Amino acid sequence: MDTLLRTPNKLEFFIPQFHGFERLSPNPSRVKLGVKKRAIRIGSSITSASSALLDLVPETKKENLDFDLPLYDTSLNKTVDLAIVGGGPAGLAVAQQVSEAGLSVCSIDPSPKLIWPNNYGVWVDEFEAMDLLDCLDTTWSGAVVYINDGAEKDLSRPYGRVNRKQLKSKMLQKCITNGVRFHQAKVTNVVHEEVNSTVVCSDGVKIQASVVLDATGFSRCLVQYDKPYNPDKHLDAYPEVKERNSKIPTFLYAMPFSSNRIFLEETSLVARPGLKMEDIQERMVARLKHLGINVKRIEEDERCVIPMGGPLPVLPQRVVGIGGTAGMVHPSTGYMVARTLAAAPIVANAIVRYLGSTKGDELSAEVWRDLWPIERRRQREFFCFGMDILLKLDLDATRRFFDAFFDLEPRYWHGFLSSRLFLPDLVFFGLSLFSHASNTSRLEIMTKGTVPLAKMINNLVKIETKDCNCILLDNCVYNHHNMISCEDIRIF
Ligand SMILES: Cc1cc2nc3c(=O)[nH]c(=O)nc-3n(C[C@H](O)[C@H](O)[C@H](O)COP(=O)(O)OP(=O)(O)OC[C@H]3O[C@@H](n4cnc5c(N)ncnc54)[C@H](O)[C@@H]3O)c2cc1C
Repeated sequence: MDTLLRTPNKLEFFIPQFHGFERLSPNPSRVKLGVKKRAIRIGSSITSASSALLDLVPETKKENLDFDLPLYDTSLNKTVDLAIVGGGPAGLAVAQQVSEAGLSVCSIDPSPKLIWPNNYGVWVDEFEAMDLLDCLDTTWSGAVVYINDGAEKDLSRPYGRVNRKQLKSKMLQKCITNGVRFHQAKVTNVVHEEVNSTVVCSDGVKIQASVVLDATGFSRCLVQYDKPYNPDKHLDAYPEVKERNSKIPTFLYAMPFSSNRIFLEETSLVARPGLKMEDIQERMVARLKHLGINVKRIEEDERCVIPMGGPLPVLPQRVVGIGGTAGMVHPSTGYMVARTLAAAPIVANAIVRYLGSTKGDELSAEVWRDLWPIERRRQREFFCFGMDILLKLDLDATRRFFDAFFDLEPRYWHGFLSSRLFLPDLVFFGLSLFSHASNTSRLEIMTKGTVPLAKMINNLVKIETKDCNCILLDNCVYNHHNMISCEDIRIF
């Protein structure tokens, strides 16, 4: 969906994509952006405008937190209860909670003090439920979704941007207080024995642990998959990219921090194969040109690809996982931070509980079972079904789809986006979406959704028959490019 914040009070989503936005209000304190009907052609004028924009150098540099981290003493050769590979939000959340229960934890990351590079947006209620409101640097009272001319949805669900520095500082502080030890290195391998495992680091250090948790995000350092991950395998099926814009929509998503400072993100919600970064960049430049926005400064520039859907890791396996590495990204939205932070206590409790009674493979199997119980696997199938439908919709169909989606009762769309709905509520969600859809949209959902529906049912049956490792979903990605800059409007 295309999203852009309308005023400093609202987050704005422009659904989708290649249509430009027009700045409607000259009043810089109330910037309003709308969608213009006419599609924009990328031509030489855009290229020259883009070169000016693309010549700007992001101002933000990588920054380390000012923490004195207690280091893992390699000379003692001590076996820790838990070795966590990766110090992203997922890894630190588990480190904090397992150490709180009195277990010894070692967190391994090549840059343990570095402020996380990615910007995260979350629904405020999700962070409120975890008592993390102090880790949002800006909140908006709601969000506006621009679907088309004359069609906009005012979503009264507060939205926020995560203050990465504050969230990481808070987590690190708790870890330090609870006695977590840190080791600065990249993990290259793990060797399992019957009871313990040995994590091998790039600096030659070996760390023994009763449990190894892989929290390396999408690098998937240790967790194993039995299906290959290759989001570009369908590339050959898409030879003509001429009409790429109408076929694979992108949308603009914006968080306005003031009238002249805005975080913008040109986003492809889901595509198989993923869009080229230059393509996304070109579309963003076209939008900004159309809006008459003269970008003066880029504070920060971020490009990312988030794998969506795809197979779950092999379940169970000796290394346990959480976050991106454990298939936890929402297959229909790419969101994960809130869900992962909420799942951290589940993983932490499972490790603490089972460490007393079991060891080795059996222990890991119990932890995986708690992370991916059958209800969650069914739910994921449904979300992948949603992803598969979105993949097949073109620009107009995507607009119609979101028109119906945001007309749903809040409990349905909130629940879907925040992974709170489970089967059978998801079935009612689907029926409700269908009943809110226009006749054209219903026809599109029926024609494009039949094969994904059959695939979902097939996978659900496999889950019921405990054949969970056979689930194979095609891979696709969510990618975006965003930036921060300024003039009349500053862009992230
Ligand atoms: C640019 C971007 C924007 C996103 N925006 C949102 C959003 O708005 N909302 C949302 O909910 N989700 C968002 N996501 C999805 C998801 O929430 C994030 O990817 C999130 O950072 C995943 O957390 P993680 O802890 O699992 O992994 P990561 O944050 O990727 O952390 C992994 C850590 O592991 C370390 N590591 C990797 N390999 C090794 C190794 N071999 N040895 C030791 N350490 C290693 C890395 O250095 C890193 O510190 C976004 C993702 C990206 C990439």
